[in-house]
Amino acid sequence: MPPTIDPDYVCREHRYEKLTWPEINEAIAQKKVVVLPIGSVEQHGYHLPLDVDVRCANSVCQAAGMAAPEEMLVLPPVSYGYCNHVMDFPGTITIEPATFVKMLVDITRSLAYHGFKRIVLINGHGSNAPLVDQAARQTNLQTDALCCSLSWWELIGQYWNEEVRESGRGGSAHACELETSMYLHMDPAGVRTDRIEGALPDYTTKIPGAAEWHYTDITLGSGPASIISWTASYSETGSFGAPELATAEKGQLVFDRAAERLADLIRWFRTRPTETRREHHAEKPTMAYPFAW
Ligand SMILES: [Zn+2]
Repeated sequence: MPPTIDPDYVCREHRYEKLTWPEINEAIAQKKVVVLPIGSVEQHGYHLPLDVDVRCANSVCQAAGMAAPEEMLVLPPVSYGYCNHVMDFPGTITIEPATFVKMLVDITRSLAYHGFKRIVLINGHGSNAPLVDQAARQTNLQTDALCCSLSWWELIGQYWNEEVRESGRGGSAHACELETSMYLHMDPAGVRTDRIEGALPDYTTKIPGAAEWHYTDITLGSGPASIISWTASYSETGSFGAPELATAEKGQLVFDRAAERLADLIRWFRTRPTETRREHHAEKPTMAYPFAW
């Protein structure tokens, strides 16, 4: 017989994988939100290690989990992501888009099946974003759980842009002022500070007309013409932005703010009501739903 659930017992452990199965039953009864950090193993220029994206996403989630363990559990991260366009750089690992979405949905379906009905996907790699969004959508259609997805920098975009960053548009794109500051805060020994090169602090000057149509910045937004091709065709170092402006102090400011905002988001999401689906056909469809979600 499994141990009975004590409704007043609150497990202070936020790491999903450290719980026993009876404790998982308690966490389900307490309606904890489950958070899945998602990153990549991908080149980040001459000066940052391959684990930047998974480390940023996971560290922000772990900090939020430690601050609010009564609200959430944090799963071990998905360390690999979609990087097909980055394979000219040694070390990058890529997962095909269909495989990646399918694996994410297998994780969320497992959670929903056990009884977790609020799931948050926290992405750390820009090119994963549309696929993580797709996984969250599929979760909402295939299960009775509610799934929310975002990239961690969306938690701090306005704060970073208005109060912390020094670079202009294009300065926070990849292995940039933002990611380098985060890594300097999380693990300064991991940053090869003598190899920092601001390769493209103003990418928009490289191509005629790009300032109007085609620029990239993860927190200030991108131009309307999205043209994403081989990374090696437009960056020599693999870095985009202004890593030379990065500091550990900036990293700490955004790291702490991101963890705080994530805990706030989860407090809201945990008690957010679920809307009821309604059938609007005057005559009910006569066949089973024909789409693969
Ligand atoms: Zn990155």
